[in-house]
Amino acid sequence: MTDDSTARLATRARELDAEHVSTDRRNAFVLPDGVVYLDGNSLGALSVAAREATRDAVERQWGEQLIRAWNDSEWWTAPERVGNRIAELVGAPAGTVVVGDSTTVSLYKAVHAAARMRPERRVVLTDPDSFPTDVHVTRGVCEQLGLTLELVSPGDAVARLEGSDDVALASYSQVDYRTGELWDLATITAAAHDAGALSCWDLCHSAGVVEVGLTAGGADFAVGCGYKYLSGGPGAPAFVFVAPEHLADFTNPILGWNGHATPFAMSPDHVAADGITRARVGTPPVLGIAALEGALTAYDGLDVGDVRRRSLSLTAFFVECLGGLGVDLPVVTPADDARRGSQVSLRHPDAYAVVQALIARGVIGDFREPDIVRLGFAPLYLSHEDVLAAAVLLRDVLDGREFERAEFATRAAVT
Ligand SMILES: *Cc1c(COP(=O)(O)O)cnc(C)c1O
Repeated sequence: MTDDSTARLATRARELDAEHVSTDRRNAFVLPDGVVYLDGNSLGALSVAAREATRDAVERQWGEQLIRAWNDSEWWTAPERVGNRIAELVGAPAGTVVVGDSTTVSLYKAVHAAARMRPERRVVLTDPDSFPTDVHVTRGVCEQLGLTLELVSPGDAVARLEGSDDVALASYSQVDYRTGELWDLATITAAAHDAGALSCWDLCHSAGVVEVGLTAGGADFAVGCGYKYLSGGPGAPAFVFVAPEHLADFTNPILGWNGHATPFAMSPDHVAADGITRARVGTPPVLGIAALEGALTAYDGLDVGDVRRRSLSLTAFFVECLGGLGVDLPVVTPADDARRGSQVSLRHPDAYAVVQALIARGVIGDFREPDIVRLGFAPLYLSHEDVLAAAVLLRDVLDGREFERAEFATRAAVT
């Protein structure tokens, strides 16, 4: 609260930034001056490489190569190529990840295919507090296949699975989008396997910031978002992972020509392609994939473990700053490193207005129902100094009761 504690925190911020200098990629990103961007978990920032890749895809490839670009610029194989780059980030082998559809559609493919691999079992587990699309998709698949959707929080999943023989699939997010809680992928997956069930993981809030460890954790299926921490741009294509041992049995519920063994044979019979290509559906969103491929170069030369350490340091330091500055909002996100994703969520009865007042001060976060100020820490372009600046501005917004201003009360369409 005092100038003393701010000065002490400023020194500490500089020390921590020096300690984590090897993972500083701030210069690879384009961010407006005067902004501390704490919403990289909702829409990752634009990188120079993503901008250039998009420009090249539009101007040279589309503009000059025209239809030839499908071969000459390897548009046709981009879904697998970019999938392989993401595979490295989430601890999966090459040939198990493909990009192209939205997270929602990717999840539909994974959950549907997985549930059908355990035809004698009738139950699918998912988290009632999951991002709504995950609950909707899982419910839809259950209705279509005549299965029972059971809403069980990830914290209760192991107990539900123990000794059971009715569960086909446990489908969970690795990091809770609202609270930032990190769930133990390996433990829940092992419990599913012990019960003869499969697991599907949504990595929307973990890909690129957590050592996901799909292979190490034995995950069967996974999906994740391209436009959050991976910074692939608005509406970027998502990815789907199918473990190598399931590829041969994976039946895509949307049989399209891109998942066909010989798409240009133009045959009316469907023969699924070998490998992860069978998870493709229709013509891929080439421009979106180009932006994502450019964005992923921000990870070149980086070890995800080091990125994770930086992320944990940023979030822990933010909480330390709140303490040092006398901001006493309840922190929803677990303090334990092993249980914390890359965000810090705080509770406030006027959370929406607090977020709006913060944005007016240049700290961009977001609001989540019912009372959550959600702040995401994208480690590649945030520094500990940014984190301290955000904490100071949050203190000012609260101390000056800036959130009570009438202009911050009206809700926009996207919160
Ligand atoms: C962001 C997010 C999505 C988004 O799905 P879209 O199909 O891109 O709209 C889905 N699930 C989770 C857990 C998310 O965090």
